[in-house]
Amino acid sequence: MPDWPMHLIVPLLALFIVSKKEDIRYILLLLPLAVVPDIDTFATQHRALLHNIFIPLTFLLFGFLVFKGKRTIFMISSVYLASHVVLDMFGGGVALLYPLYDEMTYVNASLVMGRANDLIWTLDFGSRTYDTGWKTGYGFISDSPGTGAMVFLFLAGVGMAYRNWIKEEHK
Ligand SMILES: [Zn+2]
Repeated sequence: MPDWPMHLIVPLLALFIVSKKEDIRYILLLLPLAVVPDIDTFATQHRALLHNIFIPLTFLLFGFLVFKGKRTIFMISSVYLASHVVLDMFGGGVALLYPLYDEMTYVNASLVMGRANDLIWTLDFGSRTYDTGWKTGYGFISDSPGTGAMVFLFLAGVGMAYRNWIKEEHK
């Protein structure tokens, strides 16, 4: 399963690329939504209850039809929730259409360097019966490269805050 740093960094970068400068505070404030779907780890329907396409779609519809003035907030929320589902789909599978249909949809696309320096490319996708092996199969929340990535980004954030602070001081 993609760990939390991947879940945080990927949509964050995507949103930074497409967003207007004035939306950056919403992007940062709503960031925790990128890992919220994993709360269903505590439910019996892990990777189903909050890992389906209907939750981000609901946010999107609310943004377009109900809370038009707050559309940006709903759009950003939807991106965070959808990116989590997509990343998990590439990392084992999710019950994409839960509760209508509880097969797990998965994509397995990897490029691996073999022992003889040969490249092994895998592309496989489809659906299989729902299982909860995820609950016990993968215990970590952040693996070591992921933690390194978060430290790196955190330092960049500290650097940016410091630069802004210096700018304020010398006004
Ligand atoms: Zn997840």
